[in-house]
Amino acid sequence: MKDANSIFAACGTTIFEVMSRLAVEHGAINLGQGFPEGLEPPALLAEAARAVAAGPHQYPPMMGIEALRRAVAAHALRFYDLEVDPMTEVMVTSGATEALADCLFGLIEPGDEVVLIEPLYDSYLPIVRRAGGTARLVRLEPPHWTLPRDQLRAAFSRRTKLMILNSPMNPTGKVFTSEELDFIAGLLIEHDAYCVCDEVYEHLTYDGIGHLPLITRPGMRERCLRIGSAGKTFSLTGWKVGYVTACPALLTPVARAHQFLTFTTPPHLQQAVAFGLASEDEYYRSLSVDLAGRRDRLAEGLTAIGFEMLPAGGSYFLVADFRRLDTAADDLEFCRRLTIEAGVTAVPVSIFYQAGAIRHYVRFCFAKRRDALDEALNRLTRFFGHL
Ligand code: PMP
Ligand code: GLN
Repeated sequence: MKDANSIFAACGTTIFEVMSRLAVEHGAINLGQGFPEGLEPPALLAEAARAVAAGPHQYPPMMGIEALRRAVAAHALRFYDLEVDPMTEVMVTSGATEALADCLFGLIEPGDEVVLIEPLYDSYLPIVRRAGGTARLVRLEPPHWTLPRDQLRAAFSRRTKLMILNSPMNPTGKVFTSEELDFIAGLLIEHDAYCVCDEVYEHLTYDGIGHLPLITRPGMRERCLRIGSAGKTFSLTGWKVGYVTACPALLTPVARAHQFLTFTTPPHLQQAVAFGLASEDEYYRSLSVDLAGRRDRLAEGLTAIGFEMLPAGGSYFLVADFRRLDTAADDLEFCRRLTIEAGVTAVPVSIFYQAGAIRHYVRFCFAKRRDALDEALNRLTRFFGHL
């Protein structure tokens, strides 16, 4: 057999799938993979059911149904005071994963450099490389995840085509501040580069911290591609509906990639997401309040067990230092043991780094049912011998 593509062949299966399968196999409570439980809005489910019954069922327009493109533009104006033309500046995709691939395949030329911040979401690097880009990695380190400005500046060069910025950030829970965004904006302008802004957790911020899209900062309107995901905003990750917002000059090449990757997204789900984006402010507010409550419950419980918890201002995730409980295991081994022996699944943080990662942090997803969180804490308490 001839060789398959070496970049994908070298990847293995994503850790999220691996840990979820292991959780099922061992009947573990899955606090690993980032998907919510018990938060699906009934009104969206009803709207999707209505749309399926009513049809149509054929290919919708390649850029997305008009109702959803208008809803994405209205949402940008409502939350960020960002004026967007729904007909030329919005494209619907099959999830943020596809949107990311469209942006990278559509913009990167072989030899271009791409600046990435570690810890990074696992789909970024293989796609950057498959698109012919050379990655320039900059590391954020626990426990503070401070942006190393000098290293970020040094990662930029005249060959930099773009950077990828994930805020609120998976797995750290970091929400970039306006000062950090303005520093990044300065680098993008200085090097005439673009930014693919992965903002899937835009509505999942806590403690009064607000999400600021980089595209709204001075000089950024023509340089940023902003990606959102209905999966996160409406707790419906299986729907795989995402959207990209960018000026026409950036969106056009990205749409060329989209037309050959998925071309479209199921029209009924687009209809329901359009309906959802117009939800009252109370929907968005209560989602954040509810998730903050689950975060606090899990953080308190894990702290009592002996984990050292890092603060998280956004996303679905809490990062925990487990050294007080286990000094010997590395994070992957610790997660396997936790799943198999304690019946609770987490994700090792080292997989979000390319090399040289610190191996005593794990990531827990707190967007789960409260009874599942409580049962997970009971199991961990028993396992670590505190009962
Ligand atoms: N980016 C980040 C940072 C994510 O955590 C995820 C998945 N949870 C995605 C993108 C993918 O989103 P989607 O499910 O809409 O493809
Ligand atoms: N983004 C989710 C996470 O970080 C998982 C998505 C996936 O499984 N591909 O857990």
